[in-house]
Amino acid sequence: MKVASSVYFYPFSGGLENNCNTIVLTGGEPVIIDPGHKHLWPSLKAKLLEDGLNPADLKMALFTHCHPDHMEAGQILEEEYGATQAMSSAEKIFFDGPGQGFFPWMGLDLPTGYIGRLLEEGPLDLGDKTVYLYLTPGHSPGGLCLHWPEKGVLVTGDIIFSRSFGRTDFPGGSLPELRESVQRLKSLPKVEALLPGHGSAVMGAKAIEDNFNYVLDVIDRF
Ligand SMILES: [Zn+2]
Repeated sequence: MKVASSVYFYPFSGGLENNCNTIVLTGGEPVIIDPGHKHLWPSLKAKLLEDGLNPADLKMALFTHCHPDHMEAGQILEEEYGATQAMSSAEKIFFDGPGQGFFPWMGLDLPTGYIGRLLEEGPLDLGDKTVYLYLTPGHSPGGLCLHWPEKGVLVTGDIIFSRSFGRTDFPGGSLPELRESVQRLKSLPKVEALLPGHGSAVMGAKAIEDNFNYVLDVIDRF
């Protein structure tokens, strides 16, 4: 589903299965954010093709964080389509350590793909556009969120959802850090589409502001 020109959002709706939402930014350097689980890639691929997107055009598979339900299919994107897998350098350190434990814990093989690009907070040049990355720990130590001000789009990974927020009880999680991350994201200007890692998008500046306030209020009751 297209949420703005060059921005496609694929919310996951798969019954009992756990998988994340996927976002594709088309243009100069097409990026797929959080491609999800490997075994669900064929259905996601079909949706991309339906929207006229060619997986072979994707240059980067960017992971908001290293949990398998967000990044496992990155290996397919690398091996079959030549996309570069990318996460924050802080997340890579975690991924090389305790983060590996999520794979066997979820009954999955350890990833053998190569994280070819380490990202930092700040501007990210995608050829015809610049987007901005924010290091947002709390759900995972090196979590990344992506802001594209010209389109009013904010990709929040598992930091904030519609009326909810990411778990902080996993290894590497921290509720105080998550709160600070939510607060930082709230301060970003011109957000018209909040695209979270799970659940539905939050559309419209007013609804997004209300959602930030609601979630901060819930966090503060913990
Ligand atoms: Zn996660």
